[in-house]
Amino acid sequence: CGIVGYIGKKEAYPIILNGLKRLEYRGYDSAGIALFDGSDIQLCKTQGKVADLEAKAEKNISLKGSLGIGHTRWATHGVPNDINSHPHYSNSGDLVIIHNGIIENYASIKKELINRGYTFTSDTDTEVLVNLIEEVKKQENVKLGKAVQIALNQVVGAYAIALFDKNKPDEIVVAKLGSPLAIGIGDDEFFVASDASPFIEFTKNAIYLEDQEMAIIRRDRDVKVRKIKDDKLVTPYVQELQL
Ligand code: GLU
Repeated sequence: CGIVGYIGKKEAYPIILNGLKRLEYRGYDSAGIALFDGSDIQLCKTQGKVADLEAKAEKNISLKGSLGIGHTRWATHGVPNDINSHPHYSNSGDLVIIHNGIIENYASIKKELINRGYTFTSDTDTEVLVNLIEEVKKQENVKLGKAVQIALNQVVGAYAIALFDKNKPDEIVVAKLGSPLAIGIGDDEFFVASDASPFIEFTKNAIYLEDQEMAIIRRDRDVKVRKIKDDKLVTPYVQELQL
């Protein structure tokens, strides 16, 4: 399983797709991608190989957008099928998430969200997480990064996540506990991936998030890393990757 993300000035699709191919060695049963051009989100996902995703995407969606996230899934909650594949939308359609790992207490959170009127299209723990983030954002009236932080403090499990908000076209939020997550720092562009292989051809500078850390990645600006537990700002170590 693996995750890839891009935010910058280039078309995200080829970068994400090639990145997913490089992460195939990690094993997976499904693959998916979401592209955002600042107004419309294009989402395509399928059970099967990255090659199947490629065929489906190139037939069905307009491959536009300089922000994108891609995922290969190793199913833990919900059988491998198209609907359970990532990315997953929140109920409002504003948030889009990819996730590697497991949300162990998803059942009780799901029950609570259903009580509050949320509906679910997949059987995944991941769709529960993205809706918990949405609910926190609404209830606490906080920004996306803060909502992710509050939500993750209610979660038991393991994760590498990347998500964006339709109302925030210049931002990707990522977080890590247990599963790997690297951020590539380019010129005017940032990459996210399970390991550096998807972005090594674009930049040699990378931040490896530590467990219990999250980052807000802002187009043309910066990467802000914080501790999920207490919101403490972290000065990340930018590693120079070897060829
Ligand atoms: N638990 C999630 C699911 O079953 C993510 C699995 C993964 O790591 O790919 O959809």
